[in-house]
Amino acid sequence: MINRAVPASPSAVDVLVIGAGPAGSVAAAMVHKTGLSVAVVEREQFPRFVIGESLLPRCMEVLQDAGLLDCIKAKGFQEKFGAKFIKGDAVSDFNFSEQFTDGWKWTWQVPRAEFDLALIEEVARRGVPVAFRTTVQAIDFHADESSTTTIERPDGSIATINAKFIIDASGYGRVIPRLRGLDRPSTLEPRKAVFAHMQDPKRLAFDEPNRIVILCMAPGVWVWVIPFSNGITSVGIVGAIEYFDQFGESVTEQFRGLLGAHPYLAGRFADQPHVWEPKSLQAWSATTDTFFGPGFVLTGNVTEFLDPIFSSGVMFATVSSHLASGLVIDKLAGKAVDWQQQYTKVVQQGVDTFRTYVNRWYDGTLETLFFAKEPNLDIQRKICSVLAGYVWDTSNPFVANHDAEVARVARIVKILERGAGRDAANSVAG
Ligand code: FAD
Repeated sequence: MINRAVPASPSAVDVLVIGAGPAGSVAAAMVHKTGLSVAVVEREQFPRFVIGESLLPRCMEVLQDAGLLDCIKAKGFQEKFGAKFIKGDAVSDFNFSEQFTDGWKWTWQVPRAEFDLALIEEVARRGVPVAFRTTVQAIDFHADESSTTTIERPDGSIATINAKFIIDASGYGRVIPRLRGLDRPSTLEPRKAVFAHMQDPKRLAFDEPNRIVILCMAPGVWVWVIPFSNGITSVGIVGAIEYFDQFGESVTEQFRGLLGAHPYLAGRFADQPHVWEPKSLQAWSATTDTFFGPGFVLTGNVTEFLDPIFSSGVMFATVSSHLASGLVIDKLAGKAVDWQQQYTKVVQQGVDTFRTYVNRWYDGTLETLFFAKEPNLDIQRKICSVLAGYVWDTSNPFVANHDAEVARVARIVKILERGAGRDAANSVAG
């Protein structure tokens, strides 16, 4: 239970965190550790549903530093050791223990309602005031960069919170970008997902549940299969928005129609009940003009969310919040902070790396690499580190020169598979 001994929303704090998702919990935990006062305001009552259930190993470092690893370990979530991509009979199995970067080799597959609740409960247990069903309505920034935030409480009453700094971790709520007109459309094509949690008695213990499965269904259409430790499995189909129309009008018809259309999914799930009615989301990619401003910084999904294909959302949420909260702490201690260099540039480097992989997934280039007839283990290890979220390890050429390296190696694979021989491949390899 959330500790109710502290007031839900004090009238003045050093740092106000908007949103109690993983980005908000990490930010609040990090700021609280230093002794600064911090409060969290959250629009929903937790536990609340949010999609984004497959984590990446890179976020484990952040959870550990924020002291949030043990509260998650105690929940017994399904451990995740890798990701398996399947196209027809071809299988590409990435195991995080076989990666280039010296990092975490595992993480979790989590029902987010429970995961997010466990994180924010731990933050509140330490004494951070957390106000649920409390919505940010307006923010006045003052000349000295402090601010006054107007909130609506659960009973409809209006109150204000003064803060020296705001960390906006409001996810799809995009509070500060909306209030300040900073939203910018994504460069990625809009896509749609339909998904549900399924009973899964036919799960095969020998090749699951310790990783996620990604099935290629049609060009640009793929399916996630994310088993949880409670016997439930999350299944979602992602594709172009209009692709779904052929399977029916309602989301449930589309979801069930798609399950029936794929032999593996049909065999495993067609006669199983969904735990709740299938849901749908579309056109989720968005970004902003800036990741920071006088008196605020944006973290997590508010900065930019790309696409679910490589499960990068919670990793970016936690890593960006970890970095941003450290800089906020420095700033409030009177140190000079170069937000552009120390924050935006760093976050952008990771986002841009994943953007390449998202684009190269949808244009088929990565399929060439993943399903190469004779996989190169060195390349596999380097790509595996990207898929584990180690997109700041620039000693990995698949990070440092992401776009060029992926394209170059895919060309070599294609030449070899056409039988053009090693000489032709070597000329491309340079
Ligand atoms: P959130 O988890 O969205 O938390 C933000 C919080 O802010 C919310 O609780 C919200 O209620 C609150 N809030 C909003 N507005 C206000 C307001 N005005 N006042 C107060 N509070 C407010 N990511 C992965 O890592 N793995 C996946 O497998 C994955 N799959 C995905 C599948 C799909 C189809 C989509 C669309 C996304 C997926 N993601 C995945 C991305 C993932 O959902 C997000 O990246 C992640 O939830 C971001 O965390 P966050 O803390 O930034 O935001």
